[in-house]
Amino acid sequence: MGLSKTIWANPSEIIRTKRPDHPVLVFSPEVLQTTARRFLRGFPGLVTYAVKSNPDEMVIENLVAAGIRGFDVASPAEIDMIRRIAPRAALHYHNPVRGRDEIAHAVRAGVKTWSVDSRSELEKLIEMVPAEGCEISVRFTLPVRGAAYDFGTKFGATPVLAAELLARAAGAGFMPSLTFHPGTQCTDPMAWGAYIRTAAEICRLADVPARRLNVGGGFPNHRTRGPAPALEEIFSLIDRVATEAFGAARPALVCEPGRGLVGDAFTHITRVKALRDDSHVFLNDGVYGGLAELPLIGNIERLEVRAPCGAPRTGAAVNRIVFGPTCDSVDRLPGEIALPGTLEEGDFLVFHGMGAYSSATNTRFNGFGQLEILTALSLRG
Ligand SMILES: *Cc1c(COP(=O)(O)O)cnc(C)c1O
Repeated sequence: MGLSKTIWANPSEIIRTKRPDHPVLVFSPEVLQTTARRFLRGFPGLVTYAVKSNPDEMVIENLVAAGIRGFDVASPAEIDMIRRIAPRAALHYHNPVRGRDEIAHAVRAGVKTWSVDSRSELEKLIEMVPAEGCEISVRFTLPVRGAAYDFGTKFGATPVLAAELLARAAGAGFMPSLTFHPGTQCTDPMAWGAYIRTAAEICRLADVPARRLNVGGGFPNHRTRGPAPALEEIFSLIDRVATEAFGAARPALVCEPGRGLVGDAFTHITRVKALRDDSHVFLNDGVYGGLAELPLIGNIERLEVRAPCGAPRTGAAVNRIVFGPTCDSVDRLPGEIALPGTLEEGDFLVFHGMGAYSSATNTRFNGFGQLEILTALSLRG
């Protein structure tokens, strides 16, 4: 039995040494912990992690090591996993629709914070959850832009209904709070401003002060060739608007980032299976695998091509259509992608900023999707 190497220097060492024929996600615990500390230092309130964006246990363990003490969970399986790895962490059950068995499971697991966006689901909680020491956060939505896609079409009460639900939750003895999600990869800080001002209006309308305001996820990760998103600008806008809108009645703030915390901690290595008649690129991964999100929120501009020796391919770019490996015609990356003209079969396409909604939504469709996760000291080079 030989010794197997478990921590790599960087993605190009993996390419040159392993020449992997299956897709590989490269994880940097260092980048993840640095981002977590940036949220913990900069966000003016409690930082929780949205588990669905990347539920890998190494991710959860590194977040706990960095000081994250709360998790946004959406199912009994996520609740059980967090209870096992971080038994004392706060669990926020922020999927606003749950079956009765799911509610009972969460009560047994000691969940104290719940979100809701409708009368029917609020009445279910009032019936099944002991109010003592429990918080109900009413989720509301606004028609604002700024995000890559809008979660408000599925979840969130109108402000008028939210005021009614807030008053009902308080009347039933729960700690009344508010929550929203501005939409994922939200690059416009003003979206948070509009939601926070509306939250203050909902409290006035209901004549109920919110104990906490959860400003959601939606924090962007670094997907463009430009500079990384300025998270601190978003944090300071949230802080300033919360004080302006609520004054002395300012609630404690909470956030629940997924993408913004984990996105930049992974780099994805894919391989060119074929350059069909010097035209279309066929990769060993696509929209049924680790690249599932690209048709939904757009291509990643932080893309490099490396030869099997690990060296970057350079030279004038050629626009190419890029397909995934399955026989399904929707398995294609959006538009055309500028790749070095020197690209060859057997080269590697390396996508940065791939930690969120990649391994979590990978499928085995058509027999593909064998995704390996390796750890590296650095994602550069
Ligand atoms: C998905 C989700 C999040 C995380 O969203 P990101 O855009 O990844 O930050 C946070 N809160 C809730 C309720 C969610 O459903």
